[in-house]
Amino acid sequence: MKPTSPVFTGINTTVFETMSRLAMAHGAVNLGQGFPDVDGPLDIREAAAKALIDGPNQYPPMLGVPELRQAVADANRRFYGLEVDPQSEVLVTSGATEALADCIFALVSPGDEVVLIEPLYDCYLPLVKQAGGIPVRVRVTPPHWDLDKTALRAAFSSKTKAVLINNPMNPTAKVFSEAELQLIADLCLEHDAYAICDEVYEHLVFDNRQHKPLMAFDGMRERTVRIGSAGKTFSLTGWKVGYVTGPAQLMDPIAKAHQWVTFTTPPALQKAVAFGLQKDDSYYSGLASELSGKRDRMAKGLAALGFSVLPCAATYFLTCGIDGLNLGDNDVEACERLVREAGVAAVPVSAFYGDNAPTGFIRFCFCKQDEIIDEALSRLSAFLTAANSESA
Ligand code: PMP
Ligand code: GLN
Repeated sequence: MKPTSPVFTGINTTVFETMSRLAMAHGAVNLGQGFPDVDGPLDIREAAAKALIDGPNQYPPMLGVPELRQAVADANRRFYGLEVDPQSEVLVTSGATEALADCIFALVSPGDEVVLIEPLYDCYLPLVKQAGGIPVRVRVTPPHWDLDKTALRAAFSSKTKAVLINNPMNPTAKVFSEAELQLIADLCLEHDAYAICDEVYEHLVFDNRQHKPLMAFDGMRERTVRIGSAGKTFSLTGWKVGYVTGPAQLMDPIAKAHQWVTFTTPPALQKAVAFGLQKDDSYYSGLASELSGKRDRMAKGLAALGFSVLPCAATYFLTCGIDGLNLGDNDVEACERLVREAGVAAVPVSAFYGDNAPTGFIRFCFCKQDEIIDEALSRLSAFLTAANSESA
């Protein structure tokens, strides 16, 4: 028989699904896949339930229900001072994942180079390849995940169609500095490249930092598309409601890609997300402060166990160095041991690289109830104590 697509044939199931399956099989505390263990605000869920009962439950407009497109435009003005036309510059998608696919398929043609920053969220590479694009990878390196500016400059050329950045960044928990963003903007302008900005963690930013979208930099408004996710902003990851904001001339082909990928997104969920986006500032500041408290709880506990906990400015992930813990030869082995023997699931950071990945880091997700975090820490402690006494 003829071969199936090489982009999708023989590749691994995503590390998040794999680790969640293993966590379930071993009764482990699941700090692998990123999702909160308490559902988001009740009033948003009630708004969805009401909309589901009241209807209509038929195909909504392809670009998204008007209330949500308006709410996304309003949120852009409220949080970032960006003026956005809800009719022509906003698209609602079935999650940020679909938004990424739509943007990449609409902007990248076969042979175009796309600059990606490693570690990278796992759908980026296959989506760029499926579009026929040529990934050009640049790295940020631990412990501070600084961007190598010379390497970034070298990655751009006249062949660069787009740069894809994830800010705040999963799994590094990095917020790109103003200087790094300015350099990316300068390079996009110099090489006439588009920027695809995955900003799903825009509201999960800690310690009074402010998220600043690349789109807000001089000259970037007309060449940037910016992606958000209600899953992250409202702790409702299963809803898969995302949104893209961008200039009308880019949104037109992006909407056409969406037309053939999903076409629409469930209308009841869209209406509820529109309601959620209008929540007052205390919701957003409360989310960030609650999560930063969990970050501190988890970081303190992991550090006490000997993990080298890296800084975490945003997202709900903590990345840790595992050198000296005798967890195996690499991060994948360490995560296998932790899920099977300690009863705690984490994610190997090497899964976020195309090749030649560093293998000494694992990621823990901390958007969990305090008692779950404590249970995970006590399981890790028991396991490490037993393992060390065996090896002593
Ligand atoms: N981008 C990043 C960086 C993510 O971590 C995630 C995780 N969910 C997504 C995109 C996908 O978001 P969604 O669930 O809205 O598709
Ligand atoms: N973004 C989530 C993470 O990084 C996972 C999403 C998924 O499983 N597709 O853990």
